[in-house]
Amino acid sequence: MSSKRELIISKIRDGVVIDHIPTGRALLVLRLLGISGREGFRVALVMNVESRKLGTKDIVKIEGRELTKDELNLVALVAPTATVNIIRDYEVVSKFKVAIPDVIEGLLKCKNPRCITNQQREPVRSRFRVLSREPLKLVCDYCGTIHELNDIERYFGLT
Ligand SMILES: [Zn+2]
Repeated sequence: MSSKRELIISKIRDGVVIDHIPTGRALLVLRLLGISGREGFRVALVMNVESRKLGTKDIVKIEGRELTKDELNLVALVAPTATVNIIRDYEVVSKFKVAIPDVIEGLLKCKNPRCITNQQREPVRSRFRVLSREPLKLVCDYCGTIHELNDIERYFGLT
């Protein structure tokens, strides 16, 4: 690790470091974790840094926060190359790559307003199957509507 890199990535005590995020997706990752900056977590956002694997990458560090399985699945959808480091007492206690699951349940809304999952009378938990990982394509299990990365960005208010 070069000293230049250590300057950018200072250590956190307890929390999570999401590394190897595709360039330009760090804000989307924060958004889908529901982090706006007003929650009081210390957050570091590093964008467009050099990466041997990806050319350039983004990094998100959140102090005092861990990720649920659902949140990891969402991160995987928009940042399939991401590596997650769990930090406790300044040490990396766990490090793993995210993986896009085959089915995404209850995390995203179908964009088809007539879909049964969007009816107020009988709310049905949304369910999407992953058709393709690169490029990302999800299909609603109820109405067959295809969703791509830009639909997810729109859902989280980024377009
Ligand atoms: Zn649908």
